[in-house]
Amino acid sequence: MALTKDEAKKLEYRPKTVYSLVKEVEKTAEEYCEGYKEFLNASKTERGAVRFTIAEAVSRGFESFDAKKKYNSGDKVYYNNRNKSLILAVIGTDAKAGANIIASHIDSPRIDLKQKPLYEENGIGYFKTHYYGGIKKYQWSALPLALHGVIIKKSGEVVEVCIGEDENDPVLCISDLMPHIGKDQYDRKLSEGIKGEELNIITGIKPLDGDEDESVKLNILSILSEKYGICEADLITAELTAVPAMKARDAGLDRSMILAYGQDDKVCSYPSLTALFELDKTPEKTAICILADKEEIGSYGVTGLNSQALSHFIKDICDSRSVSYTEFIKNSVCLSADVGGAYDPTFASAYDSRNSAFLAKGIVITKYTGSRGKSGSSDASAELFSKIVRLFEKNGIVWQNGEYGKVDQGGAGTVASEIAAMNIDVIDAGVPVLCMHSPAELAAKVDIHMMHRASEAFYCMTKD
Ligand SMILES: [Zn+2]
Repeated sequence: MALTKDEAKKLEYRPKTVYSLVKEVEKTAEEYCEGYKEFLNASKTERGAVRFTIAEAVSRGFESFDAKKKYNSGDKVYYNNRNKSLILAVIGTDAKAGANIIASHIDSPRIDLKQKPLYEENGIGYFKTHYYGGIKKYQWSALPLALHGVIIKKSGEVVEVCIGEDENDPVLCISDLMPHIGKDQYDRKLSEGIKGEELNIITGIKPLDGDEDESVKLNILSILSEKYGICEADLITAELTAVPAMKARDAGLDRSMILAYGQDDKVCSYPSLTALFELDKTPEKTAICILADKEEIGSYGVTGLNSQALSHFIKDICDSRSVSYTEFIKNSVCLSADVGGAYDPTFASAYDSRNSAFLAKGIVITKYTGSRGKSGSSDASAELFSKIVRLFEKNGIVWQNGEYGKVDQGGAGTVASEIAAMNIDVIDAGVPVLCMHSPAELAAKVDIHMMHRASEAFYCMTKD
């Protein structure tokens, strides 16, 4: 006999907002995001995130990992990979049970300085740049920028650079053409509104002495020499990067969101960290929190997840507890915690609304990423997807599914494929954001808090 309409309606799946499903969530999320804003402001670059996190971890009893030491249940360690990526772990009670791993990344799209950046043209001093990660270049002009990074002097001394974050600091800027004479620029394709070689950062206009050519450049060199004791050649080996100088802010008249640079993917890093820090008892499986570098440029490089750093760390943990690495790996599961692209009604035609994630509807689980027929995706199994959904539902975690836009509209990748290559079951789950990869990304406070709770539940997931 056919079901009644009401009975059939009960069979439907309709994602609801976190507000309607979780009591008191607004207040908790509000408080939680105060700490998140602090983390964002201190973590404009991966080096900043590592520095901030190590200080927090040490204050909570985490120790620098030593491969020669024996580790036991409940021990808390961190492994600092070259000051640019970090692995933290709470050693589980069952040595063979494998690990529950949450992998997010702490690098974000930005404007890196070229290795020979200084020049002057028509009395204006500049830095030449080479952007990092997938950006819409036109969004990065006429914007206050801060300069971060390190310069290694010939003596080997490391000079930390941070200009533009303090209220009293000067900021930098990339120029854009005024609309009045923008006719030719208006005719360009949007992707070429500002071209790569036009992302030139203005450094100053004051000549050192007299009006000769290069006098402005010489003045900038003199300022850098006075401040840091460096010469032009020291910049060649340096790592300097420009990022939006704005601080993280509450957004919306209802203060329901956070607007900030670098939420991809620190909006997942912070919750996975706070959940690890706040574990109230030692989990059965080892809890591992990875803060990776280089995701935005394909995870290559020794601090990216394509390197062997993670497997070496896990091997060392296994050796220290005399268990088989391959067995440990096979029992491990990973959440690739990266942001999802939230549905944007203003640009509705880019999305399949039935398979999109929405702000404030909880964390988004993505079975596959990739582009052009899932290419480059690890495509999680139905078994794993359903296991994670059951875990979340048991713990009252609001979740939704979602993929990146319409088929063949483009696509994206995450660190899931690197984790899968290690023979670890992995699925993407993270916070949906709007304006991804722009200087100011938007995320919902209730989703961010949900990610914290989801991370907590995931670290405590038992072997069976
Ligand atoms: Zn990301």
